[in-house]
Amino acid sequence: MNEHFDPFVEDAAGDGELGLDTLLVHGGTARSGFGETSEAMFLNSGFVYDSAEAAEARFKGEAAGFIYSRYANPTVDMFEKRMALIEGAEAARGTASGMAAVTAALLCQLQAGDHVVASRALFGSCLYVVDELLPRYGVPCTLVDGTDLDQWKKAVRPETKVFFLESPTNPTLDVLDLKAIADIAHDAGARLVVDNVFATPLGQRPMKLGADVVVYSATKHVDGQGRCLGGVILSTEEFITTRLKDFYRHTGPSMSPFNAWVMLKGLETLALRVERHAASAARVADFLAGLPGITRVLYPGRADHPRHEIARRQMANGGPMVAFEVEGGKQGAFRVADAFRIIKISNNLGDSKSLVTHPATTTHQRLTPEARAALGIGDGLLRLSVGLEDPRDIENDLARGLAAL
Ligand SMILES: *Cc1c(COP(=O)(O)O)cnc(C)c1O
Repeated sequence: MNEHFDPFVEDAAGDGELGLDTLLVHGGTARSGFGETSEAMFLNSGFVYDSAEAAEARFKGEAAGFIYSRYANPTVDMFEKRMALIEGAEAARGTASGMAAVTAALLCQLQAGDHVVASRALFGSCLYVVDELLPRYGVPCTLVDGTDLDQWKKAVRPETKVFFLESPTNPTLDVLDLKAIADIAHDAGARLVVDNVFATPLGQRPMKLGADVVVYSATKHVDGQGRCLGGVILSTEEFITTRLKDFYRHTGPSMSPFNAWVMLKGLETLALRVERHAASAARVADFLAGLPGITRVLYPGRADHPRHEIARRQMANGGPMVAFEVEGGKQGAFRVADAFRIIKISNNLGDSKSLVTHPATTTHQRLTPEARAALGIGDGLLRLSVGLEDPRDIENDLARGLAAL
């Protein structure tokens, strides 16, 4: 992954594996000659060479070193290494946004004539990429109900190259069986690409379950404080070198070093934050289930979740997101959301602030009502990204919202 540094962690870890919490703080750190404690921010686009010969050698790949920040940058490099270490992936590439990660991870391995199978329950922009963009370039996509393994099997064609999914799904928090779907993909000679945003890097390890490529919107829990856009693609050294490297260099989905630096700081507290997000989400889900006016609570960590057993098998916790349906359809949902004082209305997620979304009129308004119904997105559905506030205050705010019904 990194031709440029001897990372601190590899030095320190010489005789054994470091714990995840240590990797989150130290992984990938490389210090300049100044010996700075915190990772340095290298806000430069280009690099200079000692001689024309040195430039030639670097371009030929005969000498290690940075060339141009569209290809690689020291701060982005530290972020990539830290992400790879915590994911247990061989290599990573940082991207400008989560969508840049998804698009690059798919386009870099596909060509006209190939075929993709994807779970229908996807983040809206991901659905656009697989269902509208790829077909324009001669890559048709079959959408399936991701929970139905037979549908994955039946959708396979000789030219199927990629399976794509997210789990838990947005916004209904359905849980897909990653191991079983990875096996079907591999039997078909295809790669499984997993968008792991809703689980967070600490809540679920898709590569351990058979995924070939994992993508994140680092904008969400990795930053975790609503500051910067960013993304990351994780896979084997082989995939990154032979599939992604040239595509990434020449199309430029690259990550800003400033954003990479913010993400590095975010990673240092990720374990603490995710633990709290998930604990509060579990508590809030139980609280919601007891409130009047609620018709459905969807939380993978609750025993009444239809796919709870699979969630227990493949997730470390129930996740940081809760979905619930209120009585009264759109009008009811709007009344509830408008009455919140602490929980903010936003289409974003993964922030220290609790955020509520009405998917039917925002993130999923592009879909027809029939398509929404097929995904279980009713007009009364609200998606809650549980923040780091005192959970009692979140509960009181939810009760206030429901009382407005
Ligand atoms: C937010 C999100 C994305 C897109 O990430 P950006 O950083 O906003 O580009 C992709 N997939 C999922 C599941 C997301 O939540």
